Amino acid sequence: MDIPKQYDPKQAELHHYERWETAGYFAPEINKDPNAPVFTIVIPPPNVTGSLHMGHALQHTIMDVMTRHKRMTGYRTLWLPGMDHAGISTQLMVNRELKKEGKNRHDLGREKFVERVWKWKADSGGQITVQMRREGASVDWSRERFTMDEDLSRAVREVFVRLYEDGMIYRGNRIVNWCPQDQTVLSDLEVDKAPQAGKLFYLQYPVKGSDRRITVATTRPETMLGDTAVAVNPNDERFRDLVGATVQLPLTNRDIPVIADEYVDMEFGTGAVKITPAHDPNDYEMGLRHKLPEVVVIDQFAKMTKDAGDRFAGLDRYKAREKVVEEFEQLGLLEKVIDYEFSISRCERCKTVIEPLISTQWFMRMDGLRDLALELMSEKHKPAFVPEVPYERIYTNWLENLRDWTISRQLWWGHQIPAWYTKNGEVVVARSEAEARAKAGTSDLIQDQDVLDTWFSSALWPFSTLGWPNVTEDLKTFYPSSVLVTARDIIFLWVSRMVMMGAKFMGREPFDDVFITGTILDSQGQRMSKTKMNGVDPVEVFDKYGVDATRLTLAQVGTTDIRWNEKQVESYRNFANKIWNAARFCLLNSEGASVDAALLVLGPQASSPFPMSSQAQVGNTACDDASGPSIHDRWIISRLNKTAISVNQALAAYQFHEAVQTLYHFFWDDFCDWYIELTKNDVTGEEATQQRNNARSRVITVLEQALRLLHPFMPYITEELWQRLPGVGKQSLHPAYADAEPTIMLAAYPAGDTSLIDEEAEWEMQATIDLISRVRNIRSEMNIKPGERVRVLVGAPDERLRSVYNSAGAQISRLVRASEISISDRLEAPRASARAVLVGGAELAVPLEGLIDFDQERQRLRREQEKLQSEATKLEAQLQNSNFVERAPAERVAEVRNRIADIAQRTSQLQQTIENLQ
Ligand SMILES: [Zn+2]
Repeated sequence: MDIPKQYDPKQAELHHYERWETAGYFAPEINKDPNAPVFTIVIPPPNVTGSLHMGHALQHTIMDVMTRHKRMTGYRTLWLPGMDHAGISTQLMVNRELKKEGKNRHDLGREKFVERVWKWKADSGGQITVQMRREGASVDWSRERFTMDEDLSRAVREVFVRLYEDGMIYRGNRIVNWCPQDQTVLSDLEVDKAPQAGKLFYLQYPVKGSDRRITVATTRPETMLGDTAVAVNPNDERFRDLVGATVQLPLTNRDIPVIADEYVDMEFGTGAVKITPAHDPNDYEMGLRHKLPEVVVIDQFAKMTKDAGDRFAGLDRYKAREKVVEEFEQLGLLEKVIDYEFSISRCERCKTVIEPLISTQWFMRMDGLRDLALELMSEKHKPAFVPEVPYERIYTNWLENLRDWTISRQLWWGHQIPAWYTKNGEVVVARSEAEARAKAGTSDLIQDQDVLDTWFSSALWPFSTLGWPNVTEDLKTFYPSSVLVTARDIIFLWVSRMVMMGAKFMGREPFDDVFITGTILDSQGQRMSKTKMNGVDPVEVFDKYGVDATRLTLAQVGTTDIRWNEKQVESYRNFANKIWNAARFCLLNSEGASVDAALLVLGPQASSPFPMSSQAQVGNTACDDASGPSIHDRWIISRLNKTAISVNQALAAYQFHEAVQTLYHFFWDDFCDWYIELTKNDVTGEEATQQRNNARSRVITVLEQALRLLHPFMPYITEELWQRLPGVGKQSLHPAYADAEPTIMLAAYPAGDTSLIDEEAEWEMQATIDLISRVRNIRSEMNIKPGERVRVLVGAPDERLRSVYNSAGAQISRLVRASEISISDRLEAPRASARAVLVGGAELAVPLEGLIDFDQERQRLRREQEKLQSEATKLEAQLQNSNFVERAPAERVAEVRNRIADIAQRTSQLQQTIENLQ
C-alpha cells in the first residue's frame, strides 16, 4: 500500500473539494430518498466587499459540521450560500476607485455608476466564495444568491408594495440620523454612541418686559440659532412664574415662548432647556407636542443655512459654534462654560459626527410586525436561541422597545425604492414602472431617487433565496430553515427583522433555532478589527496548519468568547498527523484485509470465559478467533459505539466542544494508544492466517468508522485516507446516496448501538490499561533502560481482577517488557521495589534489584528533590509578598498555590522511593 510518510494537508485540500462540488454532492438532489427528513441552513450572506475573517471561519465551520453530519445521517440537506450587496460599503469602495481616477460618482451619473459597481463586483467582488471553497464549506453553489439578483429584487419590491398597501410603510418628514460625510440617512443601529469629553455652555436669554434672564445649558451652542422655545418642568418652582413669558433669542431678531413640559429634567443644567426641534430628536418630539415651528439652521453638509442669519450662513457647524460663543461673550450673555462628558453619535462607517436633521424619508412602522414576532416567541417559543440565556431576553426586550425603521438611503447602489411621483407630487407605489404608469394613468413619472437600507433585503433572505413570492418546490421544501448560525451583534439588525418578515409573509418563523457563536478575540483579549490591525487571517492559519486543524479549533469555540491561541491549532495539527500515522500503520498492514462492518457487530455474549489460572501464559496472544473475539476487540467496539452515541447527542444539543473532545480522546487514547498497541502483534504477523487477516480487517474497520465520525469536522484528511482503505465502496454509502460514487461525505454517519456497549469489557480493559500505565510510569520514573525486562508483582484481593490480569498477561508482558508477571491475592515484594496502587484495591510492585544502580538513583532522586524544594521556596516567598497576592490575577495566585501542593506531594513520593532504595 502506497501512502506518504508525512501528512501534507495542502495535498489533501487540493483535489477533493472540486470533485465533491462538480459531482453535485453538496446539492440536496443527491439524496434519492423521497422520505428523507430535511435540514436547511441559509448562510448569513457576507458582504460582496468582504474577505474571510475569523468570525466567518468560525460560523462556516459550525454550519459545515452540522450540514455534513446531517447529510451523512441521511437528511436532504441544503446549505444555501450567497452574498449581500452591502450598500454603503460597496459604494464607498467604488467611490475610492473613482477618486484615484480624479472623478466622483456625479461625474458618471447614476446609471454609469451602477454599471461600474456591477463591473467591480464581477472583477473584485466575492473573494470570499473562493476562500469558502478552501474552508471545505459544503454549500450548494448551484443555488448561490446575491441580494441584487433580479428574483431577489423582485421579492424586495413585492414586500415593499404589500407593506405600503397595508399602511406599514410610509413616507414622512421626520428627524433622522444624517451622516454629512456619506450624505445619507442612517438607522439607529448604524450609529455608534460613545461618551466623549466636551463643554457645557450656559447661555443667557433675556426675558421680554423684564430685566430677568433665563439661563439654558447646551453642548451645541450653534443650534441656538434654531431655537423655537425654552422649556421648563411644570413642577419646577424656580420657573413657575416664567411659563408663558417670551424671551428674546439673542443673535437673532426672533421672540420665542417659555413652555412647560414634563419631559424636562430639572436636574440638568439650570432646569431650563433650549428647544431646537429641527436639530435634536427629543426636541423634535417636544416640538410636535407643542406645535413649535422647526427652524432649520444646519444643512445636509453640516453647514449653517440662510435661516441661521447672514453672519453665520455657510459656516461649518463647528466654526459657527465658536462664533456663537464669542458673540454671547461680547454681549455678556455667556454665564459660564464647564467641562462635561456627554454621549456623541457617530456614523458607524466613517465616524463623522451625526447631524440630526429633519428630512423626508421612508419609514417602516414596526408595531404590527413586532407583535407577530413576540407572539411567535410566547406561543411557539420560536426561534429557540442557543444559548437561551441571555439572548432570548435581549431579543424580546429589544422588540418591546422597537421604534419605526428608517428604510430609505441616499445612495445609488441598492434596491431603488419602487415609488414614483407624478408632476403634481402624487406618490404611486408599484412593482414596476409599467404598473406605476397604469396606476397613475400617465407615463410622466419620476422614480424615487433613494434606495432601501441594505438590511431590508437581508430581512427577506430566508425566503427570497428560495424563490418567493412564487411558491416554488424549494420554498415548500426548505422553509423554514433548521438553524441560523450568527454572531450576537446582529440579533437586532438582522435576526429579529428576518423573524418579523418571515412571520408576516410566510406565516411562520424563518428558522427553528438561532445558534449564537462566541467571539474570537486576539491573544490579548481584544476584539479583532481592521482598524486595530490585530486580526488573524484564517487563510494564513490554513496555510500553516491545514484547514482541518483550524476547523477543529474553531468548532470547539461554541458560544463563549475565547482568545485566539495558535498553540491549540498546532496541537490539532499534531492530531491530524496522529490520524495519518495510525492510518498509515493500518494500511501498511492491510494485505488480506478489508473494511467489513460485520466484524464490529459482536454481542458481549459472543465472548469466551477467561482462563482462571494464576499465571499468565507469556507468548500466547490474547486474540484468538477460534475462541471468540478478544477482550480488546470487545472493548474498542464498545468504546466506538459509546463515542458515536455521545457525539450524535452532543451535535444535536449544539455542544460542539464536547463532540470534538470526545472524538479526540477516542481516536488518540483508545484507538491509537491502546487498540493499535494491543493488536500490533496480531496484525503484523508474517503469515497470512485467517486470524491475522481478521485482526487486520477489524482494526481497519474501526479506523474507517472513526474517520466517518471525524469527517464533519475534518473533511479533507478523512476523505484522503478513506479513499485508500481496502473494501470501501458504494456499499459504504448511506442508502439515500446509493447511486453516488464512493466518498466518505456520503457514507452513513455511525449512530452507535447501545446493545454493543459492553461495560464488562470496558471495566476489564480499564483495569489492564491501569496496570500497564503504572508499570510504564515506574519504568520511566526509575530510569529503567528500555531494553531491561522487569518483574511485575501484583497483589489483588479481588478474584475478578486477578482473572482479568491473568487473561491479559501476555499483552501486559509485551507492553511493559516484563520477564514475569506474578499475580496473587496479596502483594509480597522485596523492600527495594517501586510500588503503585491500582484500581479495585490492587497493588503493584516492580523489584528494582539488578535493574538500576541504587546509589546513583538515590542521588538522582535527591537532586530532583532539592530542585523542587528550591522552586517551592521561591513560590512561597512570592505568596509572602502581599503586593503579589493583591495585584496578580486570582488565577495566577491559585496557580502558584497548586504548584506548591504538587511539589509537596511529589517530594513525599520521592522520599518514599529513596527509602525503598536503601
Ligand atoms: Zn458616514
